[in-house]
Amino acid sequence: MQDFAKNIILWYTKNKRDLPWRKTQNPYKIWVSEVILQQTRINQGISYYSVFITEFPDINTLARAKKDKILRIWQGLGYYNRALNMLFAAKTVVNELNGSFPSDYNQLIRLKGIGDYTASAIASISGNQPYAVVDGNVTRVLSRIFGITNLKRTTFEKEIKATATKLLDKKQPGIFNQALMEFGALQCKSSVPLCKSCIFNEVCYAYIRGQVKDYPPVKKVQPKKERYFHYFVIHDGNYVYIQNRKEKDIWAGLYEFPLLETNRSVSDKLALNTFITENTVDPAVISGSQRPVTFRSILSHQAINLYFHKLELINKENLKGRKWIRIKKKNLNEYAFPSQVIKYLKDQELLTE
Ligand code: SF4
Repeated sequence: MQDFAKNIILWYTKNKRDLPWRKTQNPYKIWVSEVILQQTRINQGISYYSVFITEFPDINTLARAKKDKILRIWQGLGYYNRALNMLFAAKTVVNELNGSFPSDYNQLIRLKGIGDYTASAIASISGNQPYAVVDGNVTRVLSRIFGITNLKRTTFEKEIKATATKLLDKKQPGIFNQALMEFGALQCKSSVPLCKSCIFNEVCYAYIRGQVKDYPPVKKVQPKKERYFHYFVIHDGNYVYIQNRKEKDIWAGLYEFPLLETNRSVSDKLALNTFITENTVDPAVISGSQRPVTFRSILSHQAINLYFHKLELINKENLKGRKWIRIKKKNLNEYAFPSQVIKYLKDQELLTE
């Protein structure tokens, strides 16, 4: 399509939002913004971005940061491995690239946690390199305008990438990429695209045929894995017990209460008895009769059923030597928890902020 790049950049110039990361070409800051925006919407992303950049203004500060501090700042964003990957990548940049965060695609793609999308975004915006960015917004816009569909998923994604690359303005790739993403976010929206006022409505394949809702093709949704987390919130006067989550699972590195995971829904009594047996806790030192507080949390590939069982500890000696950490309740805000645990803590007035 002739003048596509020119038209979309013109549209962008008139309509773009004023966002903090658009005021810089610093590759470190662009990286931070891109990773955060993969997790959340713009409004929430702005406050996470500003806290992150205030705490870790450059790659050296980030590389020196404690894992717990990063997770605490990341708390609520989800995909905590991405935050840990950022720490790993920061250390690599400091140790192997003299602390200079790269803006070259080939260097970026070698860093942990940086894939084609993020490398293309940073390389085009900060390095002016001709790499097209493809995210959900870009996919939707190109699929609708050019009628790209009805292909196997991998072929479809390749076709979208090839189209974006063909259209890319090689002289100002960063502006072009941002323009296309912004157009998808503001004009060619997912459920209510603003077709009547759209600059492409005379040429848009899907709109002309009245088939906007059919583009892009819907991804087949895999059934989610159901998981059952029984948390035992053991109160010991002004203290409570927590533990650190192991790596290679959701919420890696975050804190939680002592946990029993079951592969099916079980009764409260069976959960408590299993927990006591597995952890060799003397049943006489623990009491609790309330029904657990329950939440359900839907993640991208799994659904977590959470049960918070409140227990009172009668004799703390019995719990010595376990991997659990005994902390003061007033210090709970110093630890990073999954947002579902935070919700529970707030509901129980154990956390106020
Ligand atoms: S006409 Fe509608 S569907 Fe086509 S690009 Fe514009 S907003 Fe998107």
